[in-house]
Amino acid sequence: MKQADCIFCKIVAGDIPANKIYEDELLIVILDAFPAQEGHSLVIPKEHAADLLELPDAIAANVLPVAKKVMNAMENELKPHGYSIVQNNKQEAGQEVFHYHLHIIPRYSGRGGRGSKYALHPKGYKYTPLKDELKEVAKRIVSRLG
Ligand SMILES: [Zn+2]
Repeated sequence: MKQADCIFCKIVAGDIPANKIYEDELLIVILDAFPAQEGHSLVIPKEHAADLLELPDAIAANVLPVAKKVMNAMENELKPHGYSIVQNNKQEAGQEVFHYHLHIIPRYSGRGGRGSKYALHPKGYKYTPLKDELKEVAKRIVSRLG
């Protein structure tokens, strides 16, 4: 059920703009508005669920295949050197928006350190794209999704 105060529900409804790169019946994928790296994306179920514990299995089963589809598109377009797939559940784990989302974070050598520790918070590296640059990254990924 849609939650009135949920930013991701508003994005799903189209009430808040986002750089959408993928959509199907159950899920959308958008570029993170505050990306850690070029191509940092979020897989978001259309249906509101606070976290993985609340997410119905039938939807959860589609999250990784969609993430993989997007990663394949990135592989051909952004050509990162690796990927971190990060998903935090509940405040203590660092979850900030309480609507399930899976981070796809392309990793590039020399940009912020290795390992999951630096996936969301790169060490000594800050990626601060302009709005137009984000739009362009979205376009490039979409062009490879077919
Ligand atoms: Zn929501």
